[in-house]
Amino acid sequence: MNLPRLRLAHLPTPLERHARLDELVGVELWVKRDDATGGVEAGNKIRKLEFLLGAAVAEGADAVVTCGGLQSNHARATAVLAARLGLSATLLLRVPDPRAAALPRVGNALLDRLVGADVRFVSPEEYRHRDGALEAVRQELVRAGRKPYVVPEGGSNGLGALGYVLALREVARHVALGLGPRVDAGAPAFDVVVHACGSGGTAAGVALGVADTGVARAVRAFAVCDDEPTFTRVVGRLVAEARGHVPELPPPAPTTIDDRARGPAYAVMDDAQKRFLVEVARTGGLVLDPVYTGKALFGLREAVRRGDVPRGARVLFVHTGGLPGLLAQGDELAEALGT
Ligand SMILES: *Cc1c(COP(=O)(O)O)cnc(C)c1O
Repeated sequence: MNLPRLRLAHLPTPLERHARLDELVGVELWVKRDDATGGVEAGNKIRKLEFLLGAAVAEGADAVVTCGGLQSNHARATAVLAARLGLSATLLLRVPDPRAAALPRVGNALLDRLVGADVRFVSPEEYRHRDGALEAVRQELVRAGRKPYVVPEGGSNGLGALGYVLALREVARHVALGLGPRVDAGAPAFDVVVHACGSGGTAAGVALGVADTGVARAVRAFAVCDDEPTFTRVVGRLVAEARGHVPELPPPAPTTIDDRARGPAYAVMDDAQKRFLVEVARTGGLVLDPVYTGKALFGLREAVRRGDVPRGARVLFVHTGGLPGLLAQGDELAEALGT
């Protein structure tokens, strides 16, 4: 890949066997620890930002602009990395009522404030037209004599998705080194790669990376916000964009978007999901977040119960991070914690 890329993440991330969770989830569980791609900037977004901020720096940008929910992991990772690179960060964060909103000093929003990001609140209606809102801020910064670079929601465009092609190449290297499942030469190491899907970039990169490496037979992406038809369309577009940047990439691996573990709303878990998140932490010491990874692993268990994923399948679960979001939801988890 002959594209500008900054080395920002702690790579390669570990590939771990989590046998203590096999019975609870119903599969042979392996975990790619992308919650360990860094310190406070960790999670899946940093892999995309290696390419996106690489492009920004190559263009001579001195400012980045992006958007997300109030507790956006993506906005936080962008703000932290911008500070590290000496770029200013403007974040458009979605809140129910921008005039009444204050930035909570917890979780991702605390970190945004800590690293000095310029946080601006936008309403859900304005957020629906986020690309226009980002463009308006870009123009404002240009008028102020700055050189802004716009990073789309979630860092999800064809360039950002390439970060997950590289992630799957790490997995293939670990398998080749004997650090993964033992399989016959040439056979896929995993039956299915499972992860949470919020803006589609990870799903696009994983689908391409799985095809590129042959490390698994298929991908199952658990939607946490939009429905299956929406993500199928979005991921298809991102895959095409990514292959435009790297034409030697093969067509994507078979991918199922599963939207049956979304729960009551974005960033809201139902009681069964909360209890599952707590049980996973207590049974296997695997700490998931309530917005993405908790719903994805819960969704995997439900898919096994339904028979959509065969019981005992060899699964690679990509832990995409989200710890600050968990730390902002202690009150919501009180009942599930039994306290
Ligand atoms: C953003 C995010 C995802 C979803 O990744 P997309 O590429 O936006 O689909 C999953 N998990 C965590 C923790 C995230 O922050």
